[in-house]
Amino acid sequence: MVDSYSKQISDIIYDTENYEVELLFYLTQYCNLRCNGCYMRSSPNVSQNVLPHEDLNFYLGEFEKIPNFTNSVVFSGGEIFTAPINYVAACANMVLDRGLGLQLKTNGAWVADANQQNTVINMLRNLRPRRGLMADEQQIQDFLRRYPKWLLRICGRWLLMKKLPTTSSLSMAVSVDDKLHPAGSADWFVNIADLITNDKNLRNRVNLKTFTIAESVPLLESRILNNPQLNVQNFEKMPQKWAAKYTINGVRVESFVGDFVDVGAVSAVKKLSEIVMPPVGNARGRLVYCFYPDGTVGFDCNYLESVGRVSYRGADGKCKSLNQIKSDMHNKLVADYMCAIQK
Ligand code: SF4
Repeated sequence: MVDSYSKQISDIIYDTENYEVELLFYLTQYCNLRCNGCYMRSSPNVSQNVLPHEDLNFYLGEFEKIPNFTNSVVFSGGEIFTAPINYVAACANMVLDRGLGLQLKTNGAWVADANQQNTVINMLRNLRPRRGLMADEQQIQDFLRRYPKWLLRICGRWLLMKKLPTTSSLSMAVSVDDKLHPAGSADWFVNIADLITNDKNLRNRVNLKTFTIAESVPLLESRILNNPQLNVQNFEKMPQKWAAKYTINGVRVESFVGDFVDVGAVSAVKKLSEIVMPPVGNARGRLVYCFYPDGTVGFDCNYLESVGRVSYRGADGKCKSLNQIKSDMHNKLVADYMCAIQK
């Protein structure tokens, strides 16, 4: 039984064709809010330590080497904007300058304080995102067929960027959760959306998303690991994307982790309501490697659980290679499984 579990876990961890890999850095566990049920156990009482800048740099290099890396990185917390702003900016530019996509996850509380708002907005203005095409390969080919080759040779890229929809490599995901967060969080989202869309400098540089946790969406798939029934089926649910479709004051919104919410819906955002679709997940999907400020790494957001979490530093204090991490995680998951079935 353990051997077959070990093989299946190994098949998932080393499956470089069917699992994409995403990278999530928890910059800090500290948070200015204290929400009931916070999966990070964040609050103003916990350590303000941040994930070292050089560790982040090292692992960006490690993940860039692997072919199934999605080229997207998420910063989360705690609340990232409670960390020193120069540190957040330096980390963000480190990701953006490599040409990777970056999502900044925030609870949005900074928008309610004029000083903090200035600090965050100034930081966003000084980041260095890139713009890229949103169109898929087919749309690009159809577009190119409309123009003569000589014109495309001279200004093909300019034409593409001018005529097809483009997007920025920088996005901000604001958690809107009327169950977990204080009642004002939906308003914070609206205020942030207004700030960004009304600022010429920002509106093309920062994509806005919501990150929604609602009552009828299981709090986090990773909590499955808390389930004593530790098994491969549960493990496989963990890396799935989950989503909900809902209506906000008559406007239909789809909220996926990592997908866009139409900013056109923003003015209607008052309160999340009427969840119409349960979470969906693709079978084999995405492995999210999460690095925590306490020097550990695990899959997805299993902060509460020691299951599968390993130190990302070796005995010599240096950062382990990704291969070493994979192997350590595999061993830890199998060891935890053995403990679970012996109980
Ligand atoms: S805002 Fe997020 S990280 Fe902070 S306490 Fe609430 S749930 Fe936790």
